[in-house]
Amino acid sequence: MKLNPNILCNDCRKAFKEDDLIVIDVMNTLCHQFCFPVELYEIKDRGTYKEIGEKYPYFYNEVIH
Ligand SMILES: [Zn+2]
Repeated sequence: MKLNPNILCNDCRKAFKEDDLIVIDVMNTLCHQFCFPVELYEIKDRGTYKEIGEKYPYFYNEVIH
């Protein structure tokens, strides 16, 4: 399986790399940790893109939004 290269940071609109630290919010929006609008949304999980991708395997498939 390959991480979906078409999923972009919701803030800076750049593609994630496997070892980028990202956060996923309750709306399943992905952002870099340093891009995340603090306290705007509730964080569901955080970790590297690879870790998040393994926990939430739909990131390996099609873009959701
Ligand atoms: Zn970003």
